[in-house]
Amino acid sequence: MSALSRDDGAGGSFCVPILTSNLISEQGSNSSYLCDLSPKDKSWDKHRSTADSVQNHYFHSQDFQKYARRVSECSQLLEFGIVPNNAAKRKLKLTGARFCRVRHCPVCQWRRSLMWKSKAYKVLPKIVEQYPKHRWLFLTLTLRNCSVSDLRVVLQEMNKAFKRMTMRKVWSSIGWLKSIEVTCGRDGSAHPHFHCLLMVPPTYFGKNYMKQADWVDLWRSCMKLDYNPIVDVRAVKRGQQPMQLIPEILKYCTKESDMVGDRDWFLELTRQMHKLRCVATGGLLKNYLRELEQEPDDLIGADELGEGLAGELYFGWQCHVKRYKQVDI
Ligand SMILES: [Zn+2]
Repeated sequence: MSALSRDDGAGGSFCVPILTSNLISEQGSNSSYLCDLSPKDKSWDKHRSTADSVQNHYFHSQDFQKYARRVSECSQLLEFGIVPNNAAKRKLKLTGARFCRVRHCPVCQWRRSLMWKSKAYKVLPKIVEQYPKHRWLFLTLTLRNCSVSDLRVVLQEMNKAFKRMTMRKVWSSIGWLKSIEVTCGRDGSAHPHFHCLLMVPPTYFGKNYMKQADWVDLWRSCMKLDYNPIVDVRAVKRGQQPMQLIPEILKYCTKESDMVGDRDWFLELTRQMHKLRCVATGGLLKNYLRELEQEPDDLIGADELGEGLAGELYFGWQCHVKRYKQVDI
């Protein structure tokens, strides 16, 4: 039986065992680090290491002591199943971990994005099959940087403007997926922008076509701006699938480098984005991708659980070396 619940979502705490053991890898190295035993899992070290910085940011603020504790307990111990394999290389599958579910936890943000992407990769080919003649656009809507302390109001205005845009006559998209990204400006400001995947009927490239300048006018008018905002619009080539855009659209809401750079900026970002939804769907895509609007139930991934695994291994986070190391439990 698994020693860890798959994902209890409650951010429960447990101690990381100090004992470590040296697993002899089948390449002959005696490393017991996860990144050596399973190079495909080395991302865990990077994200958990950033989580150490994020928890320290939260510990510095009275307002965020709870977040600090939850992030500090997140994914401290990972359980992997060993996939039976005849090849020389050992293959591991994640089977258990506890996640804190704090929005800006780098580990949870990464896992959430993986779950959303996996869902989109499964569903989009079905839509393309049903609507083979429809085309896909990748639209990025921006505006001038704002103060991070105004971010919440600005994002609410952007959401309202987007809604207005979808009600205009010139709007021909019949389904869309929209995500928010906020980056940190060099001067400590915030740069909120939307990445959108739009599904358009074949007539878009005929009588309903909008040039880039038309998109600028539309966004400017819906946002009620007194300047021309930067808008980028690209079309997926005819016959090509929109899947290539998914990594751009369902990436992180905030880059990890921006989470660790300026503590005050990051703490204010946390305040401003509290409970704001980062991914939204509309029109026909809502029927297929609605669940992307919610926190995923599972941050491990059903695909990662396998039948008939040949035993399990546990890895504990070693913050002094910033790596996961095999532990005996
Ligand atoms: Zn977490």
